Amino acid sequence: MQKSKCSKCGAKAVIFRDYEGVALCRGHFLRSIEKRVKKVVRKHGMIEPGDRIGVALSGGKDSAVALHLMNMIVGNRPDVSIIAISINEGIRGSRDLALKKSVELCKKLDIEQHTFSYKEEFGKSLDEKVKEMGLGKDDVCGLCGVSRRWILNKKARELKVTKLCFGMNLDDEAESIMMNYVRGDIPRACRLGPVTKYSTKRKGGDMFIPRIKPLRWIPEKEVGLYARLAGLPFRPKECKYRGGLRVDVEKALLDLEKKHVGLMFTVVNTFDRMLPGIKKTLDSKETAIKKCKICGEPGSHEVCKACELWR
Ligand SMILES: [Zn+2]
Ligand SMILES: [Zn+2]
Repeated sequence: MQKSKCSKCGAKAVIFRDYEGVALCRGHFLRSIEKRVKKVVRKHGMIEPGDRIGVALSGGKDSAVALHLMNMIVGNRPDVSIIAISINEGIRGSRDLALKKSVELCKKLDIEQHTFSYKEEFGKSLDEKVKEMGLGKDDVCGLCGVSRRWILNKKARELKVTKLCFGMNLDDEAESIMMNYVRGDIPRACRLGPVTKYSTKRKGGDMFIPRIKPLRWIPEKEVGLYARLAGLPFRPKECKYRGGLRVDVEKALLDLEKKHVGLMFTVVNTFDRMLPGIKKTLDSKETAIKKCKICGEPGSHEVCKACELWR
């Protein structure tokens, strides 16, 4: 196997995909990613006529690639529009720079961007909250995720977005699936999948915006390579608060993938085959979605997680 020359045209290869046994040059690599994402979008019906897609844009590589590709796919459709939604968590340093990159990308692609902050929504920045509560790295990541999703869902609804698009890649998704196994969190597992309409379909769940993940079958490494080769502005550094169970699961999965090529694809695809069955068992047991007593947002408790944390 020639790993240094493109299997399709013989030009200098930029990547060797061991899970497929092919080497690809820059051009063939970019096209293969675009083709795979287009296929995923079509197969899972991620875009429907009349959609207003809200891409959650952090300034990192994943959401940059998601926005760029969604724009490429629906750019010319008069019946579908795209906006970007960014959140300023109030993390000094890396996240400020990431936000700048997101502004740059939206300008480059001529996409309308809406930015919201923890400070405005919750009264404090994440840095202030962490200091005040004396939180460790392992707690912060989870708290931040809950808060970000709360803002994204609420603002998406206010902006009349019909689908929230996330840049989760294959590694992210395999991690989330394994985390739910490890924690035994089956209801949360139902919110995973290429298109997440589970919560929106349950009684009282009409306030949830359906979510789509077009990069779900692209390995993390390839999303990064695509972002670089396509010349997209993004901030490569990870968030300083990244931590907790996710990081341990990530390490374990990367170790396994090294020894067993294609394992992440198997984790995700096997989960997808089990998902309809899991949903069926839960449907009979689960109660309706509740409206939070404090903020009115949908959730599974009387008071939602975001209000529990911030109010
Ligand atoms: Zn080639
Ligand atoms: Zn609430």
